[in-house]
Amino acid sequence: MILEKLSNAIGISGDEGDVRAVVLEAIREHVDEFKVDTLGNLLAFKRGTGRNRLRVMLAAHMDEVGLMVVDHDKDGFLQARTVGGIDPRLLPGALFHVGPGRIPGVVGVKPIHLLKEGEGEKVSKIESLAVDIGAKSKDEAKKLAPLGTYAAFATQFRELGTTVSGKAFDDRAGCAVLVELLRGERFRFDLHAAFTVQEEVGLRGAQVAAYAIEPDCAFALEGTIADDTPKEKEGSPTTELGQGPAITVMDRSVISDRRLVRLLTGAADELDIPYQFKQPGIGGTDAGAIHLAREGVPAVTVAVPCRYIHGPAALLSLKDFDNTVRLMRESLSRLTRRTLKL
Ligand SMILES: [Zn+2]
Repeated sequence: MILEKLSNAIGISGDEGDVRAVVLEAIREHVDEFKVDTLGNLLAFKRGTGRNRLRVMLAAHMDEVGLMVVDHDKDGFLQARTVGGIDPRLLPGALFHVGPGRIPGVVGVKPIHLLKEGEGEKVSKIESLAVDIGAKSKDEAKKLAPLGTYAAFATQFRELGTTVSGKAFDDRAGCAVLVELLRGERFRFDLHAAFTVQEEVGLRGAQVAAYAIEPDCAFALEGTIADDTPKEKEGSPTTELGQGPAITVMDRSVISDRRLVRLLTGAADELDIPYQFKQPGIGGTDAGAIHLAREGVPAVTVAVPCRYIHGPAALLSLKDFDNTVRLMRESLSRLTRRTLKL
């Protein structure tokens, strides 16, 4: 499946080329035109079948969180900083692929035998951690991983029953949904697909993509937080695995357009497609940048719930994935100019 290829590809913010190549190979035969813009967004166009056609933007970001090498010490260890949000608790002992050659690296960690009392409860800041690639000197480390080299979680995609696990499901899940939509029948409207760059560092690619596309409305496709795991269960979860696609009504970047939310829930209710609302107020997506483009764009986010995002291995339900594709396809086939009437 396309999600496997997308998840195994590496594309930390600012270096999305490998992911773009996977996407392009998957969609090339199914779109009328495509181009790569100045920042690296892949913009693909699929003409609609209707008259007086709407311009609809579907966006999914190609980038993932990771590390960047910022210094080398005299013994050959790499100093790194995070690109995008990574919980520092996830770093000690984590395995990374460093640089385009995928040099194996491990974030150094003191064995439990040597911990002083109370030391085990403390969280190490990234400034005090080092990535070990087995280099013996500063010069060797510099040669193997010069300043600015990226490092990505070293995780292989795999199947776990009716779920799959892998890295970067935020947002390769959204990219995979968008690929599936492009591979299907044409819609009545003109579909402008934007596989965006640099979402994790401030929705940057989406900002310029939305300006160029000038859409009548937009959907951001995402892999979002599912926190239905036992330890987190006290409050209502943000989203839950297996409960269907998550529709955002409000997050920190955008208040979703009510007309588009109604379009989605209307199609879901009519066809009995399960869905859930993401708990309002959490996170942000490309929709945040897109809805403020030009004179404003009605926008909404639809996401596949994923456990453990921004970590070494996320987990999603294939049923949720299929239902997200189906909900999007059905909702989009009901989208007309009247949907957007105030
Ligand atoms: Zn995301």
